[in-house]
Amino acid sequence: MRRYMSADLEFSPDQMRLMADAVVSRCIDHIASLDRQPSCGDVDAAALCRSMREAAPERGVALESLLEPLFRDWIPRSFTAPGPGYLAFIPGGGVFPAALADFIANTTNRYTGVWQAAPALVQLEANALDWLREWMDFPQDARGLFTAGGSMATFNAIVCARERHLGAEIRRGVLYTSDQAHHSILKSAKLAGVMPDRVRPIESDDRFRMRVDRLTDAIAADRKAGLTPFAVVSSAGTTNTGAVDPLDAIADVCARERIWHHIDGAYGAFFYLCDELRPALRGLPRADSLTLDPHKGMFLPYGTGALIVRDGAALRAAHEATAAYLPAMPHPSDFYDPSQHGPELSRGFPGLRVWLSIKMYGAAAFRAAINEKRALTIDAARRVAALPGIVMDAEPELSLFAFHLTWPGATLADEDAATKALMDQTTKRGRVMVTGCTAHGRYLGRVCVLSFRTHQEEIDALVEDMAAVIRGIRP
Ligand SMILES: *Cc1c(COP(=O)(O)O)cnc(C)c1O
Repeated sequence: MRRYMSADLEFSPDQMRLMADAVVSRCIDHIASLDRQPSCGDVDAAALCRSMREAAPERGVALESLLEPLFRDWIPRSFTAPGPGYLAFIPGGGVFPAALADFIANTTNRYTGVWQAAPALVQLEANALDWLREWMDFPQDARGLFTAGGSMATFNAIVCARERHLGAEIRRGVLYTSDQAHHSILKSAKLAGVMPDRVRPIESDDRFRMRVDRLTDAIAADRKAGLTPFAVVSSAGTTNTGAVDPLDAIADVCARERIWHHIDGAYGAFFYLCDELRPALRGLPRADSLTLDPHKGMFLPYGTGALIVRDGAALRAAHEATAAYLPAMPHPSDFYDPSQHGPELSRGFPGLRVWLSIKMYGAAAFRAAINEKRALTIDAARRVAALPGIVMDAEPELSLFAFHLTWPGATLADEDAATKALMDQTTKRGRVMVTGCTAHGRYLGRVCVLSFRTHQEEIDALVEDMAAVIRGIRP
């Protein structure tokens, strides 16, 4: 049968090999040059972006002509998030095995939404989830879900809590979180049908941790008003200052009050692998559910969050659904089925990138990397604290610390402006990228060490550059 050229989307094996080689070669060159790229890229690109708008082309062009502007003009116009000097926001880096896994998953394109369609592949995903469960000391009948990120994991957790405790009476339900919580919690609550007027931001203490006394007061007040407290979302490491809420005490409150305890561990959960930090994260395995972000603390490329739910049946109950056209449902119940534990049916294969990364590196390598980040942070915090005019507002509980700049006679407005200038000018020097935040009414500079590519050299650069900038800023 004659095929119309324009309808044929297949490439020959030789063509595919050439194209894949071209892509791989560009990607490897890119990775190899990361430590020479400016830490913050060049993101002032509004005019460029306007000039890039175009209609869909009627005819295709060769790959090479597209790779050239992509790698030369567009990729560099971004924060250098995979670079070793990225100490801004919450880094991760993007380990290479995960990229290989995505390539395999996308070229083999098997269907991992339901167990029957690719049982062995779904088993790999189940293994990867089970390894995370075990690392976090959750019980064996806990179940999990890979999501696109931490936000979606928290969304699914709130849905589970809502189903469990509110049924159809959603409007009565009240959710508690700290005034330092990540904004995704308010958003997830809203998506799960819990409106902002039913989310209580509980005051944090002078170390930015949720005040348990205020939490119990708020719960009591809501009960008295005829509402139904149903969930507390605590933080195992806030994005602002790295604060870890008193997880164990909050678990006690939730047990006593019979409400769901979800922990947002998108930044901090993987520090539970670090023996030194287990006491700081005490109570973490007691949670009803836990958000983890493999694309942060496991250094995967963006696109992978994870949720673990203590009562695996609750996760399943919130998401279970079937249709007449799907493969006959009943399969041995000891097999995990992604579409019965999450909102998606057709989906990518997130399990493979986690599985391949853990298999290739081994758990010990992840523990060593997370321990290294912790040690680098302690060193960085000690040296930054010793710089003239630096006041530490948040010592590193995990791998993030926050501070401001001061001098005799400085007002709060002076300090805010100087601290912001310190972050901006340190970043401008091109070796490290740092960002700030506003917490408890003042601007804080912050440093977060969580890229697997960050080592001692970048910490030395951070301290040197901050010292030089401070000399130019302080009167
Ligand atoms: C990053 C982060 C989130 C959101 O996770 P995404 O993966 O970006 O969706 C939530 N909470 C904390 C503490 C985070 O650091």
